[in-house]
Amino acid sequence: MSQVKTKKVIIDPHPTLHKECKVADPKSQEIKDLLATMRATLKEWEDGEDRYVSVGLAAPQIDEPWRVALVRSDFHNYDKRDFYALINPEITKYEGSPIQDDESCMSVHGLHVKVPRYPKIKVKAQDEEGNEIKFTARGYEAKVIQHEVDHLNGLLIMDRALTENQGGYFREMDPKTGKMIPLTQAEVEKRGIFNK
Ligand SMILES: [Zn+2]
Repeated sequence: MSQVKTKKVIIDPHPTLHKECKVADPKSQEIKDLLATMRATLKEWEDGEDRYVSVGLAAPQIDEPWRVALVRSDFHNYDKRDFYALINPEITKYEGSPIQDDESCMSVHGLHVKVPRYPKIKVKAQDEEGNEIKFTARGYEAKVIQHEVDHLNGLLIMDRALTENQGGYFREMDPKTGKMIPLTQAEVEKRGIFNK
C-alpha cells in the first residue's frame, strides 16, 4: 500500500474554520481519499510531540470544506485507534438538559472553555459506502458529535462558549508547565478569536 499523505491541522483564525461545509458524495474518489488523509493525519497528530489523544476530526480542520467527520470508536480504550466516519451528519433530535463542561479543540490553540452540550442525540448520516445510518449517541460520544457537526457548520467552541456572566470560564494551558491558567473573558476577546 502506498503511503497516504497527511495534511496540517489548521488553527484559528483561518477562514475555512468559519465556513459552512459542502455536502459530500461518499462514493466519490475525492471523499474516499479525504477520509484516508484524515485518518493518517489524526495518527500523525497523536504521535507528534506533546500531543494528546484526539477524539474526532472534521474535514474543515485540514482545510477541506466537506461535510465529513471522524469520531473515535472507543472512548474507554484509547489504545484502540479506530475512527468511524460520519458523512453529511445531521442531529435529528436533542434530548435531556444541556450539560456544561470543559472543551478544547485541535484548531483552537491551548484554549479551554465551558460549552453546553446535550447528553443524548439522534444522528442521521451516511457511512463510507454511502448507506444511510441512524443511531443514538449518549454522553461523551454525543458531546464529540455535537462538536464535530458544529465544525461542519463553521462553528468553533468560542461560538458556543458560556460567558463569565453565564457561569462560563476560559482557561489556557501553559506550554511550559502544562498547568491550566484562568483567563478573563476580556483577555480572550482581546485576541480577536470570537466570531461574533
Ligand atoms: Zn474541534
